[in-house]
Amino acid sequence: MPATLAPSPVAPTVDFERDGVQHGFLRLPYSRDDSAWGSVMTPVTVVRNGSGPTALLTGANHGDEYEGAVALFDLAQSLTADRVAGRVIIVPAMNYPAFQAGTRTSPIDRGNLNRSFPGRPDGTVTQKIADYFNRVLLPMADLVMDIHSGGRTLDFVPFAAAHILPDKDQEARCFAAVAAFAAPYSMRMLEIDAVGMYDTAAEEQGKIFVTTELGGGGTGRAETIAIAKRGVRNVLRHAGILADGEAVAEAPSRWLDMPSADCFRFAEDSGLIEACVDLGQPVRAGDLLARIHPIGRTGLAPAEYRAALDGILAARHFPGLVKAGDCIAVVGTVGD
Ligand SMILES: [Zn+2]
Repeated sequence: MPATLAPSPVAPTVDFERDGVQHGFLRLPYSRDDSAWGSVMTPVTVVRNGSGPTALLTGANHGDEYEGAVALFDLAQSLTADRVAGRVIIVPAMNYPAFQAGTRTSPIDRGNLNRSFPGRPDGTVTQKIADYFNRVLLPMADLVMDIHSGGRTLDFVPFAAAHILPDKDQEARCFAAVAAFAAPYSMRMLEIDAVGMYDTAAEEQGKIFVTTELGGGGTGRAETIAIAKRGVRNVLRHAGILADGEAVAEAPSRWLDMPSADCFRFAEDSGLIEACVDLGQPVRAGDLLARIHPIGRTGLAPAEYRAALDGILAARHFPGLVKAGDCIAVVGTVGD
């Protein structure tokens, strides 16, 4: 690693220090066959009104997750500066090439943005996007909210989440923001693969970080989009940035925990998945979660996958066919 990194090649067309509402782009040069001096043009909105905290809001970190993108395109066109104290930076589609393609990873370099942090200013397109967030946008922010859903291959009960952190004061501020989001579920989240995540980069910079999983299957539903729209505004009110009435939730949020890797069930077989439990249903240790039927011939018994602990089914594999190695179920334990 060089002692000092080169400046980011991303050129914003907005001035992050100016008051008012600005709609523009994070322009990243990307030379290619159909555009010799072309660029990736990631939409960005900045709404600023005087001094105060900064919220950085992102959707479509994975390109096939839609609740965040819908909620943030909506917020960007409706938020006015007079309702804001401080600054809101809105990037509805963080991995814009992936979002345009409707895929989890970038069609340019197959980069999974949420495994590309801290990124590189001289790397792939996806690494350059990660580097810009890591070195330019994250340092501006006090509060960071990254809205995920399950994408094409997973489906979740709708929850906001934060992580167990070494700094307990920071952790408490993160969970207070999760509670403010007021999704139907709130999760103390365990990551199976935290290296390279945006979450980790934000947390290591000491930010209040909230993430979500709000559904999935490669689409957005009316219910989960409404949760996202409401949750974003709730968190901005909680941070003192948005002053327009009380936070709202339709019902008290239920807290879930992921105490160990026993929460996850991974397929060791390929075939046709038979769901035995639906999202949100209670399960006990030993209960059947799913069967996987071999599809090469008839007359073979399905493999059985059972819960390792008591809780509710918090996530499931979405497509009807499954491959060995796929995550087929996540059980969350019910907290206080
Ligand atoms: Zn995601």
